Amino acid sequence: MRYISTRGAAPVLNFEEVVLTGMASDGGLYVPEQMPQFSAEQFAEMAGLPYAEIAFRVMKPFVGGEIDDTTFRRLIDESYATFKHDAVVPLKQLDSNHYLLELFHGPTLAFKDVALQLLGRILDHFLEKRDEKAVIMGATSGDTGSAAIEGCRHCDNLDIFILHPHNRVSAVQRRQMTTVLDGNVHNIAIEGNFDDAQAMVKASFADQNFLEGTRLIAVNSINWARIMAQVVYYVAAAVAVGAPHREVSFTVPSANFGNLFAGYIARRMGLPVKQFVIATNANDILHRTLADNDFSKHELQATLAPSMDIVVSSNFERLLFEAYDRDGAAVADLLVRFQQGAVEIDDAPLAALRALFSSYSVDDDTIIEVIQEAFEHTGELLDPHTATGYRAAQRARADATTPMITLATAHPAKFEDAVVRAGFEGAPLPETMHDLMTREERYDVLPAELGAVQQYVAANRH
Ligand SMILES: *Cc1c(COP(=O)(O)O)cnc(C)c1O
Repeated sequence: MRYISTRGAAPVLNFEEVVLTGMASDGGLYVPEQMPQFSAEQFAEMAGLPYAEIAFRVMKPFVGGEIDDTTFRRLIDESYATFKHDAVVPLKQLDSNHYLLELFHGPTLAFKDVALQLLGRILDHFLEKRDEKAVIMGATSGDTGSAAIEGCRHCDNLDIFILHPHNRVSAVQRRQMTTVLDGNVHNIAIEGNFDDAQAMVKASFADQNFLEGTRLIAVNSINWARIMAQVVYYVAAAVAVGAPHREVSFTVPSANFGNLFAGYIARRMGLPVKQFVIATNANDILHRTLADNDFSKHELQATLAPSMDIVVSSNFERLLFEAYDRDGAAVADLLVRFQQGAVEIDDAPLAALRALFSSYSVDDDTIIEVIQEAFEHTGELLDPHTATGYRAAQRARADATTPMITLATAHPAKFEDAVVRAGFEGAPLPETMHDLMTREERYDVLPAELGAVQQYVAANRH
């Protein structure tokens, strides 16, 4: 399988190269040159199969033979053995035709585990084969660092360095990262805020000389393998409710759009999806773009659904590339202008998007209301991110006869603030996390200085 950039001016890569690369050299994101196609019969045969088997079938064409089947099956099996539910991503029926797809049974209780468990193992496999070591760097405001750490802790050929703002993440969030004591996991508390940490990671990617030739890899949601791993649960959920014999719709709590773009890929592979609903919190760039053709940056707002707090939605570029009929020059022009101020999407691509996507934005007060209301009506305690999806599914759904599957992106125990504000005592942490607050922690505190951070990374990698 070959991969091309959304801006049309970067080298064409194979799967192995694309996973090790991250962002394309022209500033774009990689997408498959051709979409694999599945027949109705192939989808029908997946109904009832174990998740790992569906995962193998769905992802195999994207890997294009670059990992042998036996190894790829092993990587998949190991990844999803870390999930605490036999179904991996169980589907719950909420009412007569609304379902909840629980993506939060992995090690860190959020959907990012689905992709990061596999990405770490794929990276390690390729590095082993090449006899290379690599360094992963990332910054986190609390939530996503732990999923990356859990995905990489068992990887012999990777060192992972995660920067978090010192004393500015909750104890639970910090401990989910700092109690992972594997030798290749390095937590750095930066004496500064998240933006300082983020800026130092960006600067390190821009000039990697401090690593003296060691490869630096990003595991954020622009990495193609993350999208690929997420395609699987759209297929698994759809066939569970009757696809390919009937159409299904999905609602997705969205921020960087990596999750929802995977659903779009599933549809392009032949899965009969009628409608996608984009749910946002008050950081509503996706909703403004779809509803008002207002594709512009607004100031960041801190909301009750913090993992959806973004200004720019990075993976939306991949969807624009498709809406612009894969005209890389047009996408490059649009995104360069976007960085400078508001732009408008052209009529034809906007119409194409609106034919398939709807959107809805949910503010904090409504999140609280929805957590209460959903519990009353269904007995399910939703996390604040999933709550945005629940409301968006109700409000933006095109028809009631098509099954609607709302993606539950986090476990409510992870976001107690919102749950408590909604009048609940909180949600108990799953059994495996009960001793989180008493486990041994390990992290180092560093000043917000690029030189100090880079020296630390260079000295502590293996
Ligand atoms: C990351 C995240 C999202 C947003 O997903 P995107 O792929 O960035 O759109 C939603 N909910 C939770 C809990 C998350 O961690």
